Amino acid sequence: MRNVIIVGSGCAGNTAAVYTARASLSPLVIAGHEPGGQLSLTTLVENFPGFPQGIDGPELVENIRRQAEHFGAEYLTGIVLEADLSQRPFRINVDGEWQLTRTLIIASGASARWLNLPGEQKLIGHGVSSCATCDGFFYRGKRVIVAGGGDSAMEEANFLTRFADEVAIVHRRDTFRASKIMLDRARANPKIVFLTNTVIEDVLGADQCLVTGVKLRNVNTGETWERAVDGFFVAIGHVPNTKPFVGQIDLDPDGYIVSRGGARTNIPGVFHAGDVQDRTYRQAITAAGAGCMAAIEAERFLEAEGH
Ligand code: NAP
Repeated sequence: MRNVIIVGSGCAGNTAAVYTARASLSPLVIAGHEPGGQLSLTTLVENFPGFPQGIDGPELVENIRRQAEHFGAEYLTGIVLEADLSQRPFRINVDGEWQLTRTLIIASGASARWLNLPGEQKLIGHGVSSCATCDGFFYRGKRVIVAGGGDSAMEEANFLTRFADEVAIVHRRDTFRASKIMLDRARANPKIVFLTNTVIEDVLGADQCLVTGVKLRNVNTGETWERAVDGFFVAIGHVPNTKPFVGQIDLDPDGYIVSRGGARTNIPGVFHAGDVQDRTYRQAITAAGAGCMAAIEAERFLEAEGH
């Protein structure tokens, strides 16, 4: 029987592990299907406070893990297949084995949706990104593509014009899911061009380990062509990793955990941290802060119950 199980080993989960381990609660962290979370997919992180020269994303998240392990956190390589939160202790099925716990912190994150093109997957972190706030800075004076037609695509494209000389939004239709205000703002931006009714067939440059261009296809005419770019940003939405908890805790229509204030979910003893609940900020530092909040709440919950 565990005091705390933490699902997810990104910034949120690892920070929750630091705090709960330091509070002598011996947490068990289930590393999940993307150990290290989205930080493990980035390169240099320049906006995490405390690192004036920046720090590589994978190194940052590994450092937090080591800090947690130093205080006694245990990590289990595995994926949560199923959960039973109907009674306490909660039961968590990790790769076929049931683990029992008094409290649960869900920090399983949200995964960027990718186009799943061969070149795209090979070049993640080498010119392919799902986060303009994280990586936009590297594209000063360059040309980039943003894939998507929703608010995220408009927001990322606008943000990228701070750095890039030209931002092309590639969208598969000619009408947009984005809100009018966000779309109008993008349309009014002289650095943004729109390529509508267009799909991306592949990202080029895998042989050089650097994005050099994209292959595009007009869905109406079938015409294909290549466009030289230095960066490729995917903004086609995120998918919260809450599948094992469907029907167990309150989720919104998109699958994000509904917060009941602080780090609380609708089930006492089950807490949330990071992108699995937060669709607004989605930053390493906000995830770390949320992990801290969840840990403190779990600690107080256990204390109130006399553990
Ligand atoms: P979204 O609204 O679901 O839009 C996703 C976009 O990606 C759509 O244009 C969709 O095209 C396209 N797409 C999806 N799969 C694709 C594929 N396989 N190939 C090509 N294109 C694909 O997602 P989002 O933009 O991330 O926004 C999510 C939520 O957050 C929304 O509620 C949004 O309003 C909100 N948000 C708000 C702000 C803000 O207000 N500041 C900023 C960001 C996000 P189709 O339209 O053809 O389906």
